[in-house]
Amino acid sequence: MGNPDQHNADAAPPLKQADDHQQGVDLSPSHIWKSKIGWRVILMVFCIIFSMQTILFFVMIHVYEIEQLGELRETARSVLVQKIHDTDKPMVSPFLKQDADRLVAHTVIRGLAVYDMDYTMIKAYGAALMLRPSIKGRNPGSYRSDDGFRYEVMFTSREIGHPYNIAARLDSTDVSLRIASNTLQALGKVLLLSTALTAIFMRALHQLLLAPILRRNDEIMRRVYAQNEDKMRKLAYFDGLTGLPNRTYFLEFLKESIKQKTHGKDGVLAVLFIDLDYFKDINDAMGYEAGDRLLETIAQRLVRSLPDNAVIARFNADEFAVLVSLQPGQPDSSALVEKILFCMNEPVEIVQETFLVRASIGVSHYPHDGKEAYDILKNADIALNRAKAEGRAAVRYYSRDFDLMVQQRVQMLHDLRKAMEQKQLQLYYQPQFDLKTGHIVGVEALLRWWRPDNSKEGGKFISPTECIPVAEQSGLIVPIGEYVLRTACATAKMWQDKGLPPIRMAVNISGIQFHRSDIVSLVADVLKETKLEPRWLELELTESIFIKDTQGAINILDMLHRLGVETAIDDFGTGYSSLSYLCRFPIDRLKIDQSFIWAAPLHHNDRMIIRGIINLGHSLNLKVIAEGVETKEHEDLLKEEGCNEVQGFKYSKAIPAEEFWDFAVAHMKRPAKNEETRLLRI
Ligand code: C2E
Ligand code: MG
Ligand code: MG
Repeated sequence: MGNPDQHNADAAPPLKQADDHQQGVDLSPSHIWKSKIGWRVILMVFCIIFSMQTILFFVMIHVYEIEQLGELRETARSVLVQKIHDTDKPMVSPFLKQDADRLVAHTVIRGLAVYDMDYTMIKAYGAALMLRPSIKGRNPGSYRSDDGFRYEVMFTSREIGHPYNIAARLDSTDVSLRIASNTLQALGKVLLLSTALTAIFMRALHQLLLAPILRRNDEIMRRVYAQNEDKMRKLAYFDGLTGLPNRTYFLEFLKESIKQKTHGKDGVLAVLFIDLDYFKDINDAMGYEAGDRLLETIAQRLVRSLPDNAVIARFNADEFAVLVSLQPGQPDSSALVEKILFCMNEPVEIVQETFLVRASIGVSHYPHDGKEAYDILKNADIALNRAKAEGRAAVRYYSRDFDLMVQQRVQMLHDLRKAMEQKQLQLYYQPQFDLKTGHIVGVEALLRWWRPDNSKEGGKFISPTECIPVAEQSGLIVPIGEYVLRTACATAKMWQDKGLPPIRMAVNISGIQFHRSDIVSLVADVLKETKLEPRWLELELTESIFIKDTQGAINILDMLHRLGVETAIDDFGTGYSSLSYLCRFPIDRLKIDQSFIWAAPLHHNDRMIIRGIINLGHSLNLKVIAEGVETKEHEDLLKEEGCNEVQGFKYSKAIPAEEFWDFAVAHMKRPAKNEETRLLRI
């Protein structure tokens, strides 16, 4: 992968299809029947066709009716003409009575009215007529009854060829019935025809008009969707800052690589987790922009220095991950680790500041460290945490033991919480002596956790070296530390109240507790609560508290001093000790780490270190105490070097409060002619 953008969206695993437009629009003609708008158009087209046909039909019916009535009229005219006998006499009917009756009874004629040429009525036969000539004696035309069964017409003298005008009432029932049945049939046909025409029309419309529109819309939607999908894919799979793939992409890629067996039969897939040490501090101190620049630089360096087939991802703030498939015979993951460490070596310059970036790396391999992608990631993460815990800028390869350790830690944390609630935590006390006088001058409170189990003994003591780091990691150290401080101060006060000459109570304060809680007000509160005079309390701190925020730590120590309590640096000589800073630290005592004491009788170097610490302490006006004093040799040596105080198994291990009381009382009652012998007798 040559540059951060190389793993573009094309290579990314497909996103789940998000909507129908991915599938395309249904362009078959049947589509039109499925849509609402289609139905509206159909209904409209149908109505138009139907109404046009109906109008046409009514015109046709009307024409038909006129034809039928014309025929009826013609029939009536011919039967009338046959029966007419002209008479010369005026106002005498041309019909014989019996002829007229026969006409009315047996033909379509139901009534007759005979008029002369001036439309003066001569004679009427059968049913009465509605049709009457007007006063002016004009031809009134024809009349049709509302029910359509009667049709009255006027035959003029020209039509009948005789000097009469004859009005006749005709039975048009047949005509009406024929028209009615024809109308019904025709309406059915119109309906069918309209439907067929609508279908044909709609099909044509779809082919010619709708399909192209829908197709065009679909194309637009597809284009919009494709653009969106591209954006969504970028958001879903790539980190916005560095352009590197993100965790989701990495995981999918790893899964796919496992599935496709890209590492071959004998190869492995190596997953490396990289965490930048103290990135948060840089971010906090220099601002997010500087932090971002740093991450971009690191991303580019990783891309440049790792092989092309490596997938490099940014997981979160300062965590990167690398996936490489390694074939047998090729360099293994340690070569990759080297490359990563090498590319970090070069200082990073941001806003005219130079940063030295250090990284912790955790490595796991498929298939050795897990069969599933998730397991491989989890184990690389465990290895990384291990690397971070064992000192930064470290590299750890996953081992199954880590898993067990993680489980044990989780279990311990759970049990420790319970222990807090169920008061399984207690304090033991180890005395401290003035090396010259042999007097007990102090006591160190040490945490003891009796963890019940199913063993014969019913439980066992868990060493603070095991449980304190777990408590520190989870933040549980803060309430535990409070409990320790409160109990130790209350015990010291109680001993004083019971008559023991006052001695210093040394309490260990964890670095996490020092920074996370308001240690100054806690100490003030506890002293007030227990009524212990501040000068009898000493806080043992480690050098680690100065690493992160030296000035902040100095300020806190100053405030503690103002309260009147003493401070000591525990395990002195093992941590980060900037001698130039030491003179600025407001402390009272240096506590030489026991590792130097144990080895001092044999190793000259250790003795030199002890000497150095004692001289340094004295030159800064500090008292020096040695812990881990187990033998007379240790004691002699420390005496020779001028150490002020001692603490160790040679005198007493840490013991419960009641035992300590007895020990102290017994110790103080002894005759003290010679301080030296008394001390040695302890
Ligand atoms: P530390 O503060 O340096 O305490 C001295 C440790 O050395 C104690 O171990 C003590 O029992 C042990 N020790 C004393 N004299 C001798 C000796 O002559 N030989 C040997 N081999 N060991 C000796 P412990 O009690 O196991 O505590 C271990 C560490 O746990 C302490 O080291 C301290 O860092 C931490 N710790 C203990 N209690 C507390 C606590 O209440 N709060 C905090 N934050 N840390 C504590
Ligand atoms: Mg200590
Ligand atoms: Mg110590």
